[in-house]
Amino acid sequence: MGEIIDGKEIARQMRAELRREIQILSDERGVTPGLAVILVGTHPASQGYVRMKRKACADMGIHSFLHELPAETSEETLLALIETLNHQPAVHGILVQTPLPAHIYAQRILEAIAPDKDVDGFHPYNVGLLAVGAPLFRPCTPWGCLELLRSTGVDPAGQQAVVVGRSNIVGKPMALMLLAEHATVTLCHSHTTQLAERIAEADIVVAAIGRAEMIRGAWFKPGAVVIDVGQNRRADGSLCGDVAFAEALPRVAAITPVPGGVGPMTITMLLKNTVIGAGRCVT
Ligand code: NDP
Repeated sequence: MGEIIDGKEIARQMRAELRREIQILSDERGVTPGLAVILVGTHPASQGYVRMKRKACADMGIHSFLHELPAETSEETLLALIETLNHQPAVHGILVQTPLPAHIYAQRILEAIAPDKDVDGFHPYNVGLLAVGAPLFRPCTPWGCLELLRSTGVDPAGQQAVVVGRSNIVGKPMALMLLAEHATVTLCHSHTTQLAERIAEADIVVAAIGRAEMIRGAWFKPGAVVIDVGQNRRADGSLCGDVAFAEALPRVAAITPVPGGVGPMTITMLLKNTVIGAGRCVT
């Protein structure tokens, strides 16, 4: 029977360590990390994510500055707010909650955030730094996946890793991070042929697809480590991942559950990036 990787517990341990770093920043440099969160519109899921992020900041002693803008806010107004925040010394991280309303060009917004406050790690400059192996801010979800993988004691070096999903926020940066850890990486997507066969060869599988239980347990190589990023709603409203967890568990060495796996790590890594941003600022 495989080990269930406890994302909640690993996140708790990381947050305890982070609290110590925040204390040191405060004691030695008089700096309190600050995160600006911009929410455009009233999308209920986005409001929920913003609430969770702000609560996590409050629990950690990180200042959070909420900017709620109406859905009809113009791109120019949003850009002007970001420009202001780029220059505010108390703000070490800027997060624009997505999705943005359709009339706002999201890429232009991401590129307006100062790269040294880009705690989501989505600015092309930070994507480039990750690609050349010198990251400043790593995207939070794949970084959390890497920490979960590390928690199992598995060293990715020399391992065969398969990442399913090539989005800019999860799949692509995940592949780059595993490559930086010296894994041999295959990045799969909706045009990939023989997905099951590719997964069968993998020592490490990261699933970031968004399709409920698409990856079946029998596909895995016995002893593989599986990180399931997927967050899908079943017809009955319950949450599940991209991997058929109950089928996979007896076959794999370790696997993350959904919920309770990757989810708790994403916000933790956002907090960590904010602390990194605060640590770099010149006071
Ligand atoms: P996207 O929709 O942006 O990307 C999905 C990827 O899966 C695409 O690259 C797509 O390929 C690929 N894909 C779709 N169908 C197949 C298929 N049949 N076979 C192989 N690949 C396929 O999603 P995200 O990356 O944003 O998110 C992925 C999942 O992770 C979602 O369930 C999301 O909710 C979850 N998530 C969870 C987070 C957390 O904190 N726990 C954070 C972020 C996301 P193609 O590029 O060809 O279209």
